[in-house]
Amino acid sequence: MSKLSNDTRGTRTTAIHGGEGPDPVTGASAPNIVMSSTYVSEEAAGFSAHDLDANSPYLYSRWANPSVVSLQKKLAALEGTQACLCLASGMAAMSAIFMSLLSHGDHAIVSDVSYAGVGELVRDTLPRFGIEVSLVDMSNAYEVARAMRPNTKLVHCETPVNPILRLTDLQQICKIAKAGGAKVSCDSTFASPIGTRPAEFGVNYVMHSITKYIGGHGDAVGGAICGSTEDIAALNLEAGIHYGGVLSPFNAWLISRGAATLPLRMRAHEETALEVAGWLEDHPKVTRVIYPGLKSHPQHELAARQMDNFSGMISFQVGSEAEGEELANRMIKQLEIIHYAVSLGHHRSLIFWMATAGMMDSSFRLEGKQLESYRDYAGDGVFRLSVGLEDGVDLIRDLDSVLG
Ligand SMILES: *Cc1c(COP(=O)(O)O)cnc(C)c1O
Repeated sequence: MSKLSNDTRGTRTTAIHGGEGPDPVTGASAPNIVMSSTYVSEEAAGFSAHDLDANSPYLYSRWANPSVVSLQKKLAALEGTQACLCLASGMAAMSAIFMSLLSHGDHAIVSDVSYAGVGELVRDTLPRFGIEVSLVDMSNAYEVARAMRPNTKLVHCETPVNPILRLTDLQQICKIAKAGGAKVSCDSTFASPIGTRPAEFGVNYVMHSITKYIGGHGDAVGGAICGSTEDIAALNLEAGIHYGGVLSPFNAWLISRGAATLPLRMRAHEETALEVAGWLEDHPKVTRVIYPGLKSHPQHELAARQMDNFSGMISFQVGSEAEGEELANRMIKQLEIIHYAVSLGHHRSLIFWMATAGMMDSSFRLEGKQLESYRDYAGDGVFRLSVGLEDGVDLIRDLDSVLG
């Protein structure tokens, strides 16, 4: 047994040893994968999930699985929360939060810009269940305060937000939500727990697509929600056990292996992203670069305060929609290292063109001031670049070859 308490351990140690240890039976240093769906009981017990508590033995892998539990403990330790629930995807985690916390007649305030799937879920699905949704620019705390109602149960933000990398001041938003008796959830996928730990600012539910930075290798889809023991137990009962979108033990094992190097990878992502963002800013064909680590980011001061690591996500513009589309087509044919593909946070660099008109039609549907704020960051469209772990000079050469 280690004499170091978990509180005194550094982040790199926690990422490696959190939630795991040598196998008590075989002494295996690396964790085994437990694929079993069921477990042989040692004594008669109840058959309802309501009979379970944290100390119950394993009974059935939809209720709890050792490989998934190990990852949950690692992620809770990295986020600095008491508990974590892993589910089959980031969207499963997101729908678990909305559907478990909100009922007919409740009101939620959600960021007007978000991961596209989240944007569509809150606009199209929640109202069908009688849940009222206000879509608000979360970089403006005044707008959040103005949107609060007596029946507001949840305020959901995303920082930095996909795909424009606008930030939310978590401390401010939490203060407003709590004053009105609402809980706060935050999609922290772009920041990773190395960049921001939203629970430190008062966020109740910290959500991640662990498909992205936490898994880090683009080979496993999964989602996580970190929070208090009580909140996570309630989510596990309703969303994990009853909705049933649980994470496969094999994916949990792959994502745990990825998570072990998260602190080292994030440092490299940030270092290379700064190099590439600086180079893009000086490129004559590039009209705007958005990266929280650049002084030119409109919220750089907030980013420096709220983020310990600026992550590896860069968005940049090249002019009109036609120019963007033409460059996207050149990228598809000519890029040699960077993959033209959706997703992010992998060791491989990924880039994707997101035209503003298309994003508005399909996901965000913004008008007036809200559309103006979006266009202020994105213009007619952005290239969303997820800077991987390759050498910065190779990424720059690859981008230079298509930018001309
Ligand atoms: C990818 C992503 C999601 C959805 O996660 P999946 O694992 O693809 O279901 C949600 N939020 C953000 C910010 C994401 O990048």
